[in-house]
Parts: sequence; C-alpha cells; structure tokens
Amino acid sequence: MATQTFQLTTLSQSSLQDYMDCAQRFKLRYLDRLSYPAAETEPTLENEKHQQEGEYFHRLLQQYFIGIPAQQIAKFANTVNLQKWWENFQSAKDLVEMKGKSSLHTEATLSAPLGKHRLLAKYDLIAVQDGKAIIYDWKTYRKRPRNEWLSARMQTRVYRALLVQAGAHLNNGRPFEPEQIEMIYWFADFPDDPARFPYTSVQFQRDWDTLLKLSEEVASASSYPLTEDRQKCLFCTYRSYCERGIRAGDMEQAESEMEAEELFDVNFEQIGEIAF
Ligand code: SF4
Repeated sequence: MATQTFQLTTLSQSSLQDYMDCAQRFKLRYLDRLSYPAAETEPTLENEKHQQEGEYFHRLLQQYFIGIPAQQIAKFANTVNLQKWWENFQSAKDLVEMKGKSSLHTEATLSAPLGKHRLLAKYDLIAVQDGKAIIYDWKTYRKRPRNEWLSARMQTRVYRALLVQAGAHLNNGRPFEPEQIEMIYWFADFPDDPARFPYTSVQFQRDWDTLLKLSEEVASASSYPLTEDRQKCLFCTYRSYCERGIRAGDMEQAESEMEAEELFDVNFEQIGEIAF
C-alpha cells in the first residue's frame, strides 16, 4: 500500500509512549497517519461505551471546575457509571473544595521546544496554591494500576517535566521548581486510592535528558521495527496490517495488567462539546 509519510514536528506523551512501546506503531500512527479500524479490545461495544463515558466524565469535571454548579452537572451524569463516578467525585472533598481556594487551570495546554521538535501536553487540571502546582489527571480505568507502572509512563514524566519548562506563566512569571510540583492520578472507580507522584530536580534532569534523547532518536530514525513483545499487538489497532492477528485481545483475559486499559485514556481532542 502506498502511503504518504508526514514530517512530525510535535511530540506528545502519547506519541512518545507509542514510540517506546513499538516503533512501527509510532510510524503507522504519526508518520503514515494510517487509520486502520480494527477493534482494540473485545467485547467491542461494551468497551466503546466505557470509553465514551470516560470522555463524558472528563467533560463533566471540566465544567465543574470552570464554575458550573454541581446540581446542574449532576443531571448529565445519566448512566450507571457516570452516576457512580460523579458521586465518587462529590465525596472526594479535597477535590471538590479546591474550587475557590486554588488557582485552577482546566484543560491547560503547555508546550516547549525539545530538540528539533515541540513537546506538547494537554492537562486535565493544574491547581496552583500556596506555592505548589498539582497536576490532576482523571482516570476511568476499571483496574487500579500499580504505582510502578504509572511512574514509568511517559505521561507521568512528560507532564511534570513540561510544567517545569513551560509553566512560568502560571507562577507569576517564575518557572516552578521541580520540588513545587506533584502529579496526582485520581481514579473515578477507586476514589480513595489516588496515585501521587512528587517531583525532584534530579528526576527532572533525568526526564528532560531522556526526552531530548528520544526527540533526537525520532528525528534521525530510519527504521521502525515491529515490537518483539507480541502482547502489545493483542490490543493494537494495526495488528491485521502487521499480520499479528485478527481477533482483538479480550479485556477479561488480559494478563498484562494495564495493556488494554490504557487504550481508554482520554484525549482532549476526542471530546465533543456538551451543552449545559
Ligand atoms: S500490531 Fe504489534 S507490531 Fe504492529 S504496530 Fe501494533 S504493536 Fe507494533
């Protein structure tokens, strides 16, 4: 199949994660921009519904933090999952009560030069209060991932590092020190067990060096090998293209803890508007 190859000028946590997971997936998705509509997981319909609910839930929280009254938003939590997640959120007092106390930046987009690229990230929420900046990310995973898994994710590394590099305008013009930053994953299904990741200057230096190295690698790559870890192919939309199987991986049987769940991560570009 003849495909046009695009030049990639912007990197994000998703594209970098794809590059780390499988260089071929990165090529197909970001350079060839090939959409190959194979289902990522079975049962397809149920998983699609879960993903849509996850997107909708993000929108509800965004509306809450920009000032829409909770009673008004509650009317839109109109499925079993949405209702449960919204109730869980309402009982998380430290989150709910941030409104009015912290300087809140919902759906903030930050970017900074990274080698030959620009690194870009969209944040669910950045709350700045008492000299601390807390990055919140809402997750509607059905399983609570291990902290070690989250800690190694590109999202955790990119979001904190980029806030140091590009967040000065949120801190009266002064860059945040890494020690002022913390990232919190809040799980709508596990409201009492958020994952917290503080930051240090040593971690920041390590992360930024890694990101620069990855940017260089991406810029000079001439081959994009298929991953040797065939588990990753089970839930990959390109598996027929790569001749790595036709049937989608089964969520229930997924041995690898989060391989399937991460596909439900919400991307702001995908979220439609909801009229309130
Ligand atoms: S099917 Fe496997 S080898 Fe092919 S792009 Fe997906 S993860 Fe990579």
